[in-house]
Amino acid sequence: MLPYKIIEKKAGGHELSADEIQQFVVAYTRGSLPDYQMSALLMAIFIQGMTPAETLALTEVMLESGKQMDFSDLDGFVADKHSTGGVGDKTSLILAPVLAELGVHVPMISGRGLGHTGGTLDKLEAIPGFNVNQPLEAFDRLVREHQVGLIGQTENIAPADRKLYSLRDVTATVRSIPLITASIMSKKIAEGIQGLILDVKTGNGAFMQSMQDARALAQNLVEVGERYGIRTTALITDMNQPLGNAIGNWLEVKECLDVLQGGGPRDLVHLSLALGAEILQMRDEHLAPAAALAMQQELLENGRAYDRFLDLCKLHGADTAVLEHPDNYPATQFNHTLTAQGSGYVSRIETMALGFAGITLKAGRRIMSDTIDYAAGMQIHKKLGDKVQKGEPLLILYAEEEELLNTALEQLSDCFTISRTKPNPPQLIYETVSKYYFFGKTQLS
Ligand code: URA
Repeated sequence: MLPYKIIEKKAGGHELSADEIQQFVVAYTRGSLPDYQMSALLMAIFIQGMTPAETLALTEVMLESGKQMDFSDLDGFVADKHSTGGVGDKTSLILAPVLAELGVHVPMISGRGLGHTGGTLDKLEAIPGFNVNQPLEAFDRLVREHQVGLIGQTENIAPADRKLYSLRDVTATVRSIPLITASIMSKKIAEGIQGLILDVKTGNGAFMQSMQDARALAQNLVEVGERYGIRTTALITDMNQPLGNAIGNWLEVKECLDVLQGGGPRDLVHLSLALGAEILQMRDEHLAPAAALAMQQELLENGRAYDRFLDLCKLHGADTAVLEHPDNYPATQFNHTLTAQGSGYVSRIETMALGFAGITLKAGRRIMSDTIDYAAGMQIHKKLGDKVQKGEPLLILYAEEEELLNTALEQLSDCFTISRTKPNPPQLIYETVSKYYFFGKTQLS
């Protein structure tokens, strides 16, 4: 294999063979190909894209770089949910206990915050003692014996993705449809699942800012999942404002506790249950959508989802005392309220700026070695379409150092646009993409 020739071929817009992709990625994962050559290929893919055959070949080699879970002997439906990343996006913490309580096995391998977006692992680690670094054997046991396991990507699951992702993060090659597809799907296929619901975010706080790109990504993800025999559906959902009202790890856990006890923001409840309903309907195709929503809602209202969440936290080593008394969580030393400069309606929120301000407050990382302040973050008081009077709070920021608050406030000076006329609030769920409902071209027969 001549790496130079492969890079040149892709940069020239030609299709790589499965063999070429395989040799390149295997050499990189083993450490016999340098970062600079992999970076060059990633940038060529970023610019030229990949054909469906190339995307499948890349997914395959990334999947084969590690182990695969096997739950085929289990008597029950095995499924997971994955989001392409957003701000305030916390549905996994709600869905895992709800689905487990309804008898679905959920082997959930999650990620940390990426760029301006938050990550499920960081939110779980905000809970004292929660251990996301379990060996695969322990993960397997959790799923078999307790329906749900929540861990981070290990050395053994798609290690090629782990290495490639770090490189993409620093070479501006994250926002590529084939690279995101292979990254997500190699990990999801390795979970040994039968069903997968994908939450593909679109809007000013998402990696896919346009509907066209979100649709293309959703189609690619669904197509790869179905090729591997996984029932896969994607919901294309709004990220023109944060989901729910909390941004920041502990604040988001706290908001999930509200939802799990029958309260919480409506958009968060609505989306969580819509995602869950897709999984329940995959398991039972005769289940009506309204029934799939109602059975989940009931668990939120009767306390079973909340109890299940506490149980699963205990099973992952967490001390649940603070979950039962969330106000005992150590608060940040400083906070500041951002108020409205004028009266009217909130017509635009710079969602990505909120995500980056969260990093400034230390709710996320600038680089992988940064430590997170789990109590830091923001609480939103006005969302799109809300009426606001001059001087009313829009957002409260929380941080351990006053200087961080000041820097974040500078970043957020134009974050909320207030208009005289009431805008239409955005739709929360735009489209469903599955093998039955494709928009545009598909390679699936
Ligand atoms: N999430 C992933 O796991 N990978 C990507 O490339 C983007 C989002």
